[in-house]
Amino acid sequence: MEDCVFCKIIGGKIPSAKIYEDEKVISFLDIMPANKGHCLVVPKIHAQTLVEMGDEDLSAAIKATKKVARALSLSFGNGSFNIVMNNGKEAGQLVNHAHIHLIPRFQKDRLRIKWSHLKYEGDEIKDYAEKIKKFI
Ligand code: AMP
Repeated sequence: MEDCVFCKIIGGKIPSAKIYEDEKVISFLDIMPANKGHCLVVPKIHAQTLVEMGDEDLSAAIKATKKVARALSLSFGNGSFNIVMNNGKEAGQLVNHAHIHLIPRFQKDRLRIKWSHLKYEGDEIKDYAEKIKKFI
């Protein structure tokens, strides 16, 4: 994809602080990190979201995420991290090339990944489950 910033990084056309690469995946530091050490794990084949990724790429990406998470933990001496994946505009995806955020967490850091909790009324929760199950 010509206009895709991550495709340009994968193709070596723009620089990145690369920390891992294999046949299917690349990982580099996010230039605007939520915490220092924030990494992105990116499939080399362009797909916009998780749903569009091939199963082999997805499997390679999650394995690479584990590898990088372990390295982050060993580098910073702390086993705490968040994995975030924004899929689609409403979910806050800004770069339209699927990627997994891997964010190291520290005591008293300022990052908040929290949401307020809604409630289902009556049997609504069963209706939601039925609607989703139909498409599995
Ligand atoms: P998202 O909102 O999930 O699409 O996040 C895209 C992320 O890509 C943001 O956190 C950006 O800081 C990061 N980003 C954009 N351009 C670059 C780049 N050239 N190198 C590293 N990270 C980038």
